[in-house]
Amino acid sequence: MDAISYERATDVSAAIKAAQQPGAAFIGGGTNLLDLMKGGVARPLKLVDITHINSLGSVTPLPDGGLRIGALVRNSDAANHAWIRGRYPLLSQAFLAGASAQLRNMATVGGNLMQRTRCYYFYDTGFSQCNKRAPGSGCAALEGNNRIHAILGASEQCIATNPSDMSVALAALDAVVRVNGPQGERAIPFAEFHRLPGDHPEVDTTLKSGELITSVDLPPPLFADHSHYLKVRDRASYAFALVSVAAALQMDGDTVKTARVALGGVAHKPWRATATEQMLVGNPLSHDTLQRAAALAVRDAKGYRENRFKIELAQRAIVRAVSTAGGVA
Ligand SMILES: Cc1cc2nc3c(=O)[nH]c(=O)nc-3n(C[C@H](O)[C@H](O)[C@H](O)COP(=O)(O)OP(=O)(O)OC[C@H]3O[C@@H](n4cnc5c(N)ncnc54)[C@H](O)[C@@H]3O)c2cc1C
Repeated sequence: MDAISYERATDVSAAIKAAQQPGAAFIGGGTNLLDLMKGGVARPLKLVDITHINSLGSVTPLPDGGLRIGALVRNSDAANHAWIRGRYPLLSQAFLAGASAQLRNMATVGGNLMQRTRCYYFYDTGFSQCNKRAPGSGCAALEGNNRIHAILGASEQCIATNPSDMSVALAALDAVVRVNGPQGERAIPFAEFHRLPGDHPEVDTTLKSGELITSVDLPPPLFADHSHYLKVRDRASYAFALVSVAAALQMDGDTVKTARVALGGVAHKPWRATATEQMLVGNPLSHDTLQRAAALAVRDAKGYRENRFKIELAQRAIVRAVSTAGGVA
């Protein structure tokens, strides 16, 4: 058994200082990190408990009309917060689609952003091949069980997917992740927060060593009237997405004025379908436009032995989610 030290921080600077030592990890709700530790996938030498930093535990309005969600706000509190439900219903729906009520009561916004893939080979240390867990060892999923794996943006090194529902909605909403660390504060546009695997699938995000996520900032709400989060999964609850779609529209009569479409369950990061968005803008939500816009999202998709069904599923899910958001379903 490894010896692990534990330190409880009560403010941001103390947390950053406590995490300076090699092998330190922040712990929020612990719903992912503790599982990974029990399975021998994560082996931190020190846990820095951030759950007593009060300044990161609230939802506050921003001067521009946006909203700041502290990194320690629990998923259930965020989902049910009146401002989030009223102004960003897409995000509330995405939170509620994730995990179970008990897990959402523990899970924090910062931890949700950082949760790791659910690839079977990453979780099971009995498999020697996993470039994400053991860089250079290979990818067992390429030829193995790959039903839940990526169809977009994968590499020969890794075909794992990002499992977060919340993050798909945040990608569509153009959120900003605020972080603080040894080099000070910075703001990371959401599209730049999660990475594609490339040659370094062991690196999930652009967060630097020792940096603490302090909040997620939402721009002013534009999509409260026309948005929908659709999650397609094997069970009605307590299951990760095979494919999910966050659709957000601004309508001018019957015509789409602005469109945001992000996909989950299909790539190593939440996937913005920008060509789909461009096709939708300026058009009414006709059957033909929806079909053609959805096809654009998967034009570069590549399926593997068990997951080719996701290519058609993603298109159908886009059509359903965008139609529902636009009120034409
Ligand atoms: C059975 C099960 C089913 C689930 N189903 C779903 C699902 O359907 N959809 C979904 O989206 N999720 C699902 N989840 C995942 C769940 O949402 C995550 O476990 C949870 O969001 C992680 O949050 P946490 O606060 O517990 O993170 P922790 O476990 O505390 O931490 C996770 C990681 O984040 C890092 N971290 C935490 N906070 C910060 C911070 N502020 N700054 C920097 N790093 C930080 C930690 O060091 C660790 O590496 C499921 C989990 C389980 C166990």
